[in-house]
Amino acid sequence: MSMTSPPRVPEILPNLGNILRCPACSGIVKNQGETLDCQGCGERYGISPNGQLDLRLKKKKLSQLALETNSSFDSTYNLQIEDKYWIIPFSARKNPEVDFTGLEVPVRLNPAQLSYFPKARKAGSLMLDLGCGEELHRQVCEHAGFAYVGLDIRHQKAGILGDAHALPFADNSFDFVLAIATLEHLRNPFLGIREARRVMKPGARLLGTVAFLEPFHDLSYFHHSHHGVNYLLQDAGFKIMAIGPEGDWPVLRALSEMILFPKLPKKAANILVAPLHFLHRLWWKLGSAISKSETAQERYRLLATAGSLTFVVEK
Ligand SMILES: [Zn+2]
Repeated sequence: MSMTSPPRVPEILPNLGNILRCPACSGIVKNQGETLDCQGCGERYGISPNGQLDLRLKKKKLSQLALETNSSFDSTYNLQIEDKYWIIPFSARKNPEVDFTGLEVPVRLNPAQLSYFPKARKAGSLMLDLGCGEELHRQVCEHAGFAYVGLDIRHQKAGILGDAHALPFADNSFDFVLAIATLEHLRNPFLGIREARRVMKPGARLLGTVAFLEPFHDLSYFHHSHHGVNYLLQDAGFKIMAIGPEGDWPVLRALSEMILFPKLPKKAANILVAPLHFLHRLWWKLGSAISKSETAQERYRLLATAGSLTFVVEK
């Protein structure tokens, strides 16, 4: 895979000029050469030493959330789990909108997830890679026709530095949002997911993954079960397209690679837990042989042992 360096600030600005906003007051920010100045509150934002737009909050910001409580929520979505959402394991769509043949799949994505990528409606359609790290997804997003915007709280290879809890963009700006392994790093996922939805256009798609039984890593705050992420997304007002365990990433593999045997090559780490994984599968096979609901049991096993989950939703 070609490792393209992030564009310099003058290159991304023309594309973004209309949608950049002050993260503190949502005011329009104007490019004054050395700084971006908010026309609302007067805050000045700069360029990082790595040439990134630094639109992180400079002061504390008060955000208010209205949270609805519905005691019957559990009973309504149990039905949906069986009937609609859960694709076990998360599998490729029959009619993907974008053909990725011949393109290398970035390390944090798999072909099933790529099959849910939307195709850009027109040239210059903006997409946001939320928590983009070193912008590994740039190539596949550009292949789908999008103008790529990478945002991260601190990674030095991200195009824009910003806080997912106070996004520096106008409402209804993006046609597509990626949030790969991002939600578990939010201090307040209920606020962060509302921010993601706010900056999406109506009908825009969000594709993401979130840690479930992965061990603590890189300042992770809240790991989500499938019920957790389903509730979070529905509560924010999204329409759910799919939620399911992320590829071949069961808890034993996640634990082994990430914390039990760190620095060991991944293959070797996998081999060390393979016997236990085999016995676990065998035990459940024996169990399902005497039960009538083999498919339901296998779905439950996959969800209950997932290292992480994939979700696809629309605004
Ligand atoms: Zn401002």
